[in-house]
Amino acid sequence: MTYSATENKKVQSMRSGKSAFSSARRNAVQSVQQREAVLPSFDFTQHSVADIYGANVFSRQVMRKLLPKNVYKAIIRCLDFGEKLESQHADIVANAMKDWATANGATHFTHWFHPMTGLTAEKHDSFLGAISEEGTAILEFSGKTLVQGEPDASSFPSGGIRSTFEARGYTGWDPTSPAFLMESPLGKTLCIPTVFCSFSGHALDKKTPLLRSLGAIDKQGTRLLNLLGRKEVKRVNCTVGAEQEYFLIDEAFYLARPDLINSGRALFGAKPPRGQEMEDHYWGSIKERVLAFMMDSEAELYRLGVPVKTRHNEVAPAQFEVAPIFEYSNVAVDHNMVLMEVFRKTAQRHGLRCLFHEKPFSGVNGSGKHNNWSMSDDQGNNLLEPGKTPHENTQFLVVLASVIRAVNKYARLLRATIAFAGNDHRLGANEAPPAIISIYLGDRLSEVVKAIIAGKADAGSKAGSIGLGVSTLPDVSKDDSDRNRTSPFAFTGNKFEFRAVGSSQSIAWPNTVLNTIVAESFDYLATEIEKEVKAGMDLTKAAHKVAKQVLTDNERILFNGDNYSQKWHDEAEKRGLPNLRNTVEALPALAEKEAIEVFEKYSVLSKDEVLARYNINLETYCKTVNIEASLTETIATNMILPVALEYQSRVANTIVQTKSAISGINLSVQEGMLRDIADKVSQLKTNLEVLESIRHHDSDEDSPEDELLGHAKFYQNKVIPAMNSVRQVADELEVVVDDSLWPLPKFREMLYIY
Ligand code: ADP
Ligand code: MG
Repeated sequence: MTYSATENKKVQSMRSGKSAFSSARRNAVQSVQQREAVLPSFDFTQHSVADIYGANVFSRQVMRKLLPKNVYKAIIRCLDFGEKLESQHADIVANAMKDWATANGATHFTHWFHPMTGLTAEKHDSFLGAISEEGTAILEFSGKTLVQGEPDASSFPSGGIRSTFEARGYTGWDPTSPAFLMESPLGKTLCIPTVFCSFSGHALDKKTPLLRSLGAIDKQGTRLLNLLGRKEVKRVNCTVGAEQEYFLIDEAFYLARPDLINSGRALFGAKPPRGQEMEDHYWGSIKERVLAFMMDSEAELYRLGVPVKTRHNEVAPAQFEVAPIFEYSNVAVDHNMVLMEVFRKTAQRHGLRCLFHEKPFSGVNGSGKHNNWSMSDDQGNNLLEPGKTPHENTQFLVVLASVIRAVNKYARLLRATIAFAGNDHRLGANEAPPAIISIYLGDRLSEVVKAIIAGKADAGSKAGSIGLGVSTLPDVSKDDSDRNRTSPFAFTGNKFEFRAVGSSQSIAWPNTVLNTIVAESFDYLATEIEKEVKAGMDLTKAAHKVAKQVLTDNERILFNGDNYSQKWHDEAEKRGLPNLRNTVEALPALAEKEAIEVFEKYSVLSKDEVLARYNINLETYCKTVNIEASLTETIATNMILPVALEYQSRVANTIVQTKSAISGINLSVQEGMLRDIADKVSQLKTNLEVLESIRHHDSDEDSPEDELLGHAKFYQNKVIPAMNSVRQVADELEVVVDDSLWPLPKFREMLYIY
């Protein structure tokens, strides 16, 4: 066979090993080097944050300006007191919304909802309502269209709730989260936050149960406060501020990593020689390119009324955090979803990719989302503020005892809300809170609690005391209470911080459960206090008696020490605290009687709706691991094996050539090298075959009573270990194979080159 001159060159270069194998990675590095910083689209030196804040929000201020007084009042009553908005008013609101949106550049609107995919969904419709006889466009947006939409529900996960003949689903306007304009360089879309239900009224989304849980905590919280003498309180709401961690890497690296593109995490990659041990990234100075991305995102978020406040470098290289000012939890949930969307989009504009996966790079820290959570009454008081007077203290102690009881009683349920494949990589590793749920109170508050439990209460000894020796609580300063970063559920001065939430997940579900179980505790404590009062006890004494009992019964959940230590794991076991190490162990709590009962009792979810969520979570787990396994096979087979073989053949050729050039030469060291590579290649191929055969014999582990759980166990116990053994050998090969051949961008590049 003869080759033309150019073909000849190609073949030569293939033979010489300078093949196309490494081009993707080399090109990536080159394009990163040539990348120019993109300036933020907004110039903060010319305009202040106040100038743009909320410009894309159909806010109260906008409504006050655009709506007739009576309609504005009606909508405020709807927002503040949950009154229903009449349909003729909805028409007027819709019309004003349309005029405002189109005047601000919107052509389309969408009902924006949170299906159980964990993402948000949107289907755009234009405002074009009809064509006049003269052929001109008539823009329309009726109250009916605002209030209700009818998406086809059959393509969204339903967990078995929706039968196929009932494909219709409904989206219903949620006026408590303001409509907003999502920008794109090509125009704007009016997004109307909605809930999503099936024809039969079952919740098919994450928002409906959240709103119901807020209703439950409102009802029980108001009842409890009224009982404690706060007769003026009419509403209790929850507040949330979600600190969000994420990674940023250059887009060129991302595009050369099929694993990042398709599974959100690197399925291969040796630990970088320089990880986070220098501790120089946390709060380090922010690189300009990253800062430009942050400022650009912030400008859009400000326009969207998302109150982002804090930005900084996180612990791992290429890892960052953003934190907002807290808001009512319904809005905070929406805003966290909007934030993730804006970050993803803006990163691309800057030639970067934003990774929200819990563990995109093994060997360095993963990402979480700290869900700061508290409750407030309609008088503007934070219910978790310890307070200075005995009167406030009583309320605080009762509320604190309620939360402690809820988290202890429903620790497994709470654990289940953060159980999914991505978070399995984080919980339990020595970097994130462990899978064991416990509460950190800080030293001073713990002392108070201990004193109460020990009954060191010289009742009424001091004038004005509350009868338990704690006439006023100590000032629990933030510094005092936030030193422990290892706790999954920490009291931080005037709020709890649920730190085990995963960075990619919607915070709707963890908050739904938190609200529900605390509502149940409020109900319990209120009922107990009422009983004592009925039996003739003084209210304050009754409140303390009940709080003392509850604290005593639930003390085991309190832990101030190092949650990462083996000592705590042993201790927790002694205390009987559940340690549900992964998704498969954690999810079943959702389907248990106790969980179903609490959801049903407070009308947050029906049994069907709970089981649907259980099923969807299991299915999602299986699908996620299956995608990863399939990617592992593909990448190992057609990206890693070929270069390993190529390198093996080069070393072999070198040995043969050297031997023929110098007869009798001793090449035992080189032969050892070759043997080592050949062994690794064989091992990689063998492990791959094991993975393939496991996947093709896709069996359910024996769980006849629960087929899906059996399936998930199969992924947990068989597929994941097989995947890990493929990765292990591949990562060993990465550090021996000629660097110029290696096709996948390495961690040392992705995490360090901007
Ligand atoms: P820390 O240093 O304890 O984490 P920060 O003041 O930085 O505290 O707050 C962290 C997050 O907690 C922020 O998003 C903040 O808005 C939020 N936060 C503060 N107070 C509350 C509250 N009462 N309810 C909910 N979130 C809150
Ligand atoms: Mg914090």
